Amino acid sequence: MSVALRILDDGAWISVNDQREVSVSELWRFADEEWCRCRLPDFVVEGFLDVGVDGRTVETRVYGQCIACGETGTVDWLPVGRILDGEFVDLDRESVLHPAGGPDRRASDEQPSDGDSAIDGDQADAVER
Ligand SMILES: [Zn+2]
Repeated sequence: MSVALRILDDGAWISVNDQREVSVSELWRFADEEWCRCRLPDFVVEGFLDVGVDGRTVETRVYGQCIACGETGTVDWLPVGRILDGEFVDLDRESVLHPAGGPDRRASDEQPSDGDSAIDGDQADAVER
């Protein structure tokens, strides 16, 4: 299964399979104490430089600015989403992002599952409009 990752509009969008999925102007926090003087940068994405996929994780290199201290620059690969069954699924980018391969990388993919919460089932019947 192949996934087409592209950067569109001079770095304004990440497109996955010709769908615009991630745009600039998002506010990200990432765990990198050395990027600027802030322990946790309040980082506004201004442009996507590169996008790739590592296993099923979509990662990107971005350019932007820390709105807390004004530092600008590029950030190394950060995970922004995942590929599930050939579809792009957003990561929760409002929580702290952990740089790909960084020391803080945890196996957060493995959520403990109590067998009761089967979200994969067909729930459409229960919805009333
Ligand atoms: Zn800062």
